Amino acid sequence: MSEEKQNCPTSFIKDKVKRKKLASGICDFCGKEHPLCYICTQCEFTVCQTCFIENQKRFTRSGVTWVCPDCLNWETL
Ligand SMILES: [Zn+2]
Ligand SMILES: [Zn+2]
Repeated sequence: MSEEKQNCPTSFIKDKVKRKKLASGICDFCGKEHPLCYICTQCEFTVCQTCFIENQKRFTRSGVTWVCPDCLNWETL
């Protein structure tokens, strides 16, 4: 009698669900809802395109990647 239940650890299939880097959300800078925001995949820091461009020097130097000011995670644009 074996009653082993095989519980698949969900952490292994986490990669399957890829979070959107560009999605609608409430900007952490201006507090307004925007249809297109940059979202950190680590901590879900959200910044709208307007604020991103206004604070571009804080986020990006190369224009290819941006750094989340909250968790210092690198994201590609
Ligand atoms: Zn904003
Ligand atoms: Zn972050």
